[in-house]
Amino acid sequence: MIHLFDKIADSIYFLVSRSFDSNITFIQSGDYHVLVDAGTGMNYHALDKDLQGLGSSLSQLTDIVLTHSHIDHIGGVIPIVESGNPKIHLHKAEGEPINEGNMSQTLSDTFGVDLPPLKIEGLLEEGSILEFGDITMQVYHTPGHSLGSICLDILETGILITGDTLFPGGSFGRTDFPTGDERALVESLRRISEMTFEIGLPGHMNAMKFNAKKSALASYQMAKSMFRL
Ligand SMILES: [Zn+2]
Ligand SMILES: [Zn+2]
Repeated sequence: MIHLFDKIADSIYFLVSRSFDSNITFIQSGDYHVLVDAGTGMNYHALDKDLQGLGSSLSQLTDIVLTHSHIDHIGGVIPIVESGNPKIHLHKAEGEPINEGNMSQTLSDTFGVDLPPLKIEGLLEEGSILEFGDITMQVYHTPGHSLGSICLDILETGILITGDTLFPGGSFGRTDFPTGDERALVESLRRISEMTFEIGLPGHMNAMKFNAKKSALASYQMAKSMFRL
């Protein structure tokens, strides 16, 4: 099966996951080479090749933004920091424990992965702004799937990166991992359904390329009725 980055807009590319990896977004603008989410790390070489196809590579990455710290999103950071020096960004609710050496929220133990200590330099919160060349992203704190889950609004593009909060087809991230919270997830989906965007890039499954806001509304209603909230 061929996996290649799909061009979503100028400077913005989307890779649907290999096996257990999260989806990965790649942004290149000015001197910035940015990944949003990094997969498990198991497909490090294939990812590097895909990036080379776009004139970049893992060792050239300047920044990695994580929608949350579950192992299928953060695991890929480990081989990358061994060969480069990107700045890692993550919501402070998950980044601060990691900086103190507490990796429990990554679920690395549950999945039997030995995750070395990591330094999260970019501690994010609601309203944080990330500027990468001509690309500006605004952080929305959307807990529920995990305590520090975020969505990223890529300003003036109509693109929202939804992490494991919103998936296509009326679906959404599970809430049965530690720090998952059904009520918080429904509230986060409600917020997303009230935002203005056209394209949704989720942490798993395919991109919502058209009318993603409608998809968000369907997921909100589905979650609300499923959790009886
Ligand atoms: Zn995930
Ligand atoms: Zn997750």
